[in-house]
Amino acid sequence: MKILSFDIGGTEIKYAFCDENFNLTEKKSVPTNAHEGGARIIERIMKIIKGCENIDRIGISTAGQVDSVKGEIIFATDSIPGYTGTKIKEIIESETGIPTAVENDVNSAAIGEAVFGAAKGFDSFICLTYGTGIGGAIFIDGKLFTGCSFSAGEFGHIVSHAGGKGCTCGGFGCYEAYASASALVNAVKEKTGKSMNGREIFENFENPQIKNVIDCWIDEIVIGLKSLVYIFNPKIIVAGGGIMNEQYITDEINIRLQKELMPSFRKVRVVKALMGNDANKLGAAYLASKIN
Ligand SMILES: [Zn+2]
Repeated sequence: MKILSFDIGGTEIKYAFCDENFNLTEKKSVPTNAHEGGARIIERIMKIIKGCENIDRIGISTAGQVDSVKGEIIFATDSIPGYTGTKIKEIIESETGIPTAVENDVNSAAIGEAVFGAAKGFDSFICLTYGTGIGGAIFIDGKLFTGCSFSAGEFGHIVSHAGGKGCTCGGFGCYEAYASASALVNAVKEKTGKSMNGREIFENFENPQIKNVIDCWIDEIVIGLKSLVYIFNPKIIVAGGGIMNEQYITDEINIRLQKELMPSFRKVRVVKALMGNDANKLGAAYLASKIN
């Protein structure tokens, strides 16, 4: 089986071929040019599909909230204008006749980790991705839990500080305003006056002022995880996002989380996502392979 798998992100559309053993080959990317809108993204994808031969299935991981049954975008922010309502599955299938699966990017990554990566062998777990915001996904008994409108697992907007900082969702005190990678970048800037990205922050780890900001930020991560552990009682929590490649973070999260939890919940381990950039494409390809 030859699957063409896409990962539509805010800056890049990544894609690759995937065989029946889920080996990704010919990985490529083109700019998303998100500001040009959803219709242009679909045009760009259609051009790529039409340039490929003998495709049996198409898998699409995309930003935005996705109705994975209909394969359409139920909501996307203004970062991709006009993307809301785009019937991706219907458009691609009617133009090409190739069976297509569409899923939200965080859910796709969670499926990638569940089947091939850090959560392989675990039936129930939660996944969090720490980046600009905090994305989440919930796996229960081997299945993705999507909620009544395909939106479950928005862990970035659980409230960790009632009445706290304003958030992109319009609310206040959301977890991602304190514990996302962007929150760390902002906190370092506030404390030092310097703009640094995640990598630069950890290059300056020995600077006591920066180390202190990192430690406070890890406490914020733990506050949210503690609530989630009490809700889901998971054996593992998969933590993704480039920043989580810093070993110090997951080590400290595990140490501090254990101290916070009641004894019966202490089995939980926070583990790093393993599939990196490929998780989304693998998850989408896996869903596509399951279409009858
Ligand atoms: Zn929020």
